[in-house]
Amino acid sequence: MLFDKFQAMADFRAELAEQGVAPFGAVTEEILSATEGIVQGRKVILAGTNNYLGLSYDSRCIAKAQEAAQRWGTGTTGSRVANGSFEGHQALEDEIAEFYGVDHAIAFSTGYAATMGMCATLAGPGDVILLDADSHSSIYSGVKLSGADIIRFKHSNPDDLAKRLRRLGDRAGQALIIAEGIYSMLGDVAPLQEIAAIKREYGSYLLVDEAHSMGVLGESGRGAAQAAGVESDVDFTAGTFSKSLGSVGGFCVSPHAELEHIRFCINAYIFTASSSPSVIASTREALRIISSEPERREQLWRNSHQLYDGLKSLGLKVGPSASPVVAVEFEDHANTIACWQGLMDQGVYVNLVVPPASPSTNFLLRNSVSAAHSPQQIDEIIAAYASLKDRGLLTSAEHGEG
Ligand code: PMP
Repeated sequence: MLFDKFQAMADFRAELAEQGVAPFGAVTEEILSATEGIVQGRKVILAGTNNYLGLSYDSRCIAKAQEAAQRWGTGTTGSRVANGSFEGHQALEDEIAEFYGVDHAIAFSTGYAATMGMCATLAGPGDVILLDADSHSSIYSGVKLSGADIIRFKHSNPDDLAKRLRRLGDRAGQALIIAEGIYSMLGDVAPLQEIAAIKREYGSYLLVDEAHSMGVLGESGRGAAQAAGVESDVDFTAGTFSKSLGSVGGFCVSPHAELEHIRFCINAYIFTASSSPSVIASTREALRIISSEPERREQLWRNSHQLYDGLKSLGLKVGPSASPVVAVEFEDHANTIACWQGLMDQGVYVNLVVPPASPSTNFLLRNSVSAAHSPQQIDEIIAAYASLKDRGLLTSAEHGEG
């Protein structure tokens, strides 16, 4: 029957309902600040957003969005190619290209459309794509659509990438390698220096999705490639406006002039309505702020270290190093769900992540840190985990090596 394949999801939802837990699609009833809201009738610290720089609630961004809605209306009602290309879209593209120090940029309606669209279009039948095994769903969706031969290399493993490129012989020279900057679920940073060196050796092309690293890493916030000093090896940088820039939308920038032709071959750009004027206006303001206020990035990293060190000292299994994404891995699924609810009960809202969104079969409680969190709020998050431990909810199976 058509619906048989959904039985596993039905069973999982029934299990959650039995426990009286509703982690997916929990409704935020009110936003009080960039870090606090009312969720399920309770005031909570928002520790599961991707609001890395706290800009979703910045008064300057809000004012620009209001002005734009007043002047340009609520929506474009069409695609960039048909009738939806307004002055602001073009200005945002110019500004994002300037931010990255390249000449070419495309703005998309979502980050998903940006990455999926680029991956689906850059390579085609007869070409080869090599992608990190832990790539985001937008990358997997895109490469499937491309019709290219798809090769997965082991997560953040440059030796495996090199081995697979070597096997391709002459085809390696036109292969497209895809990696991310910061990986969204575990918060680890890709080894871009090594990946870029391999790309140079084989003369391949490199696309980096900086969705979680733009505004977060690099001297001027351009992301992991800037932090690794390999920007000149990156052919295409994809990213999103929905995380550090606090709005919605996505982009691709490139030093290659061909991007201007490629633009008109991307279905996810051609056949969808462009971003509304208010979204474009707040994104432009946020981009200006991330360039002019580097102290936000510094605060984000101070907060990230505070949360990472605090959770690690409780003996939880966190990633290898501090990052704005601090994920706690659990082996016992029922226990993870109980802990998610236990945090909610104490006023801390984090993300429950289950496979396939988590890279292994483990469940995760994914915490994301914002520059807007106060040190006291970070302490409260740590204290909430500590109390779960005191109540015996964090059993030894969940503890890391130290
Ligand atoms: N790429 C990566 C690596 C992501 O993590 C995400 C979103 N989580 C996206 C792309 C899609 O971005 P958006 O949610 O802005 O559409």
